[in-house]
Amino acid sequence: MPARRASSAPAAAPPEARARARVRVLLPLPLEGPYDYRRASGEALAAGDIVLVPLGGRELAGCVWDEADEGVEEVAAARLRDVRRRLPAPPLPEALRRFVNWVAGYTLSAPGAVLKMVLSVPDALEAERPITAYAAAEDAAAKGRAVRMTAARSRVMAALAAGPPRAASELAREAGVSPGVVAGLARAGLLQAVTVAPPLPFARPDWRRPAPRFSPDQAAAAADLAAKARDGGFSVTLLDGVTGAGKTEVYLDAVAAALRAGRQVLVLVPEIALTAQWLGRFEARFGAVPVEWHSDLTPAQRRLAWRAVAEGKARVVVGARSALFLPFPELGLVVVDEEHDASFKQEDGVVYHARDMAVVRARIEGIPIVLVTATPSLETVTNVAAGRYQCLRLPERHGGARLPDIHVVDMRADPPPRQHWLSPALRAALGETFEAGEQAMLFLNRRGYAPLTLCRRCGHRLDCPNCTAWLVQHRSRGRLLCHHCGLTTALPEACPRCGEADSFAACGPGVERLGEEVSALFPDARYGIMTSDTLTGPKAAAGFVRRVERRELDLVIGTQMVAKGHHFPLLTLVGVIDADLGLAGGDLRAAERTYQLLAQVSGRAGRAQRPGRVFVQTYMPEHPVMGALVSGDRDRFLEAEAAARRAQGMPPFGRLAAVIVSGPKEGAVIAAARALGRGAPRAPGIEVLGPAPAPLARVGGRYRWRLLVKARKTLDIQTPLRRWLGPVTAKGGVRIKVDIDPYSFL
Ligand code: ADP
Ligand code: ZN
Repeated sequence: MPARRASSAPAAAPPEARARARVRVLLPLPLEGPYDYRRASGEALAAGDIVLVPLGGRELAGCVWDEADEGVEEVAAARLRDVRRRLPAPPLPEALRRFVNWVAGYTLSAPGAVLKMVLSVPDALEAERPITAYAAAEDAAAKGRAVRMTAARSRVMAALAAGPPRAASELAREAGVSPGVVAGLARAGLLQAVTVAPPLPFARPDWRRPAPRFSPDQAAAAADLAAKARDGGFSVTLLDGVTGAGKTEVYLDAVAAALRAGRQVLVLVPEIALTAQWLGRFEARFGAVPVEWHSDLTPAQRRLAWRAVAEGKARVVVGARSALFLPFPELGLVVVDEEHDASFKQEDGVVYHARDMAVVRARIEGIPIVLVTATPSLETVTNVAAGRYQCLRLPERHGGARLPDIHVVDMRADPPPRQHWLSPALRAALGETFEAGEQAMLFLNRRGYAPLTLCRRCGHRLDCPNCTAWLVQHRSRGRLLCHHCGLTTALPEACPRCGEADSFAACGPGVERLGEEVSALFPDARYGIMTSDTLTGPKAAAGFVRRVERRELDLVIGTQMVAKGHHFPLLTLVGVIDADLGLAGGDLRAAERTYQLLAQVSGRAGRAQRPGRVFVQTYMPEHPVMGALVSGDRDRFLEAEAAARRAQGMPPFGRLAAVIVSGPKEGAVIAAARALGRGAPRAPGIEVLGPAPAPLARVGGRYRWRLLVKARKTLDIQTPLRRWLGPVTAKGGVRIKVDIDPYSFL
């Protein structure tokens, strides 16, 4: 990919007139680079403008891109096609164009594939369509006497009298009538149609509203962040505070400072479905909700939100990782909440880490970024140690709340009965908690009822036909599910191998099965299950959180979703059912991630007046992760992790890139992987491991092989990768995916 100039200043005037008529347009497609088009005479176009251009037999929107520094091969003028027209959307700012180029270069993606994430709402690029609204006709009163005024019709007229003209659907909803009633009134001449601009549903957050009364630690951190937001300039700050320290309140002060300075703010969160409490707090502080950005928006909401960001009308956006590619013209602050969270890594399409790319965007924009967490990633801690990032600490919980007491339950010494999963100690603690009228949480990172189903007679295991994976029993749905490809099937009546009827045994627990065990022990305890398949989307998740807040539930049983940010004042007990679950397997970050997850779940206990307790069930009580949880000595644990990684040259002390070869035919995949292995870069400081079959050797019917490139930290890993993989063309449905800084090794 040719390097591009950083500034959007026009290139020196080309010698020929025809060259001046040429513009480079980046299309939201995985192409090598921008395509040349001819500008219609008289139309001035500048880099960043969004234009409609022909491609093949269709038309699509692209962005006028900056001129390249180096000679790019020119298409003959005679073959150029015309730009159709400029679209009435705000141009993409220069910083965003540079960001697109940077992300493409770093992740080895086509720039157009990155641009596609920016131009994610093609509808938002066209002019806003005015909507038809209804007002009361001037002679409505007179006409009203001539027609039959039902109660429903009267309600519509009353609703109209109390406000501006509104769309028919909105009027109907407000008056509590069917849309037909409004249509009927319009036909009878009591309503008059007018066109209005669509209302902007986003109120401006008011930074003048007062902050809460801060503790001295909080006040110091808030003042530091607010000064950075006010003054601008690139900086990265880790806000490192224990769970319940009030980190959110503190960084909201920086948000206020950025708003006051007239800048926009982006807050990235790992799981947008779980932001109900966060939104409530934001609204309490600023008197308005921020603009949300996530995959659950309706097309109309997406369009409005994208446009509002581009026009600077949306001042604060809270979103999942894709919000990083929104076209903010005045971005002044980025916050990455729960910066350690693995879900910031995008695994499909353009493979990127939203936290890392957020730092890049902040650098290009020249603005501060705040990384927030109680359990920082080793990457971030290392950057703080090296002086690249600054660090602010909040060592205590807000309001005098203490951190919970953590008990490690040795499952070898104190095991549950067979086919049960609650140790006697945890069972007793649950009983005491319910007795005291308090709430509890059980954490088990396994969805469904049982992870494995076996035939009692012949031992046959129910596997996914498309994946190297067991089928998971989901009793609530009465189905078996593959968690990798989404296949669902009914439990067979007889064993497919030996033919024995009703022979299947469920092995091991999932959250549903845990619920069964709790119900048997505590029939009066009201429990709810919190997983990605019981709570689909923000509405369901918000409803669930509300039920916990209103004490309609005594117990929450859930997967990692329960670890994320919740604040339930009455929750005093957390039980970790299987602390060892994440430690198996060859994942580089297994220990680090398990520590983060368990510390975060533990942090849900005892956040208000009542003290909290945590029971961690493990077969490895001597494991460093358990030791760190009990002692609370996080930093020593991280230092040991860092030492081990440094010794092996692993991230963050070395660079990794994974190359995943996949395809429907095993032979073709192996051949391609081996060919890649033979051509692998050989240079000092670079090592290529594999090819070898992936641990998940087959997913969705595709066979998978992997290579792992390991390089010294000081090396630019992209250049050799590009030289190696650039010329490779895969055949027979084989795909080659590159994952820079991989987080998944499956
Ligand atoms: P963290 O994000 O660090 O886990 P939170 O920001 O969720 O902590 O704070 C925990 C609770 O304490 C929240 O209910 C929050 O509103 C409250 N809180 C924190 N700081 C203050 C403060 N200075 N004044 C009033 N309430 C606060
Ligand atoms: Zn499958």
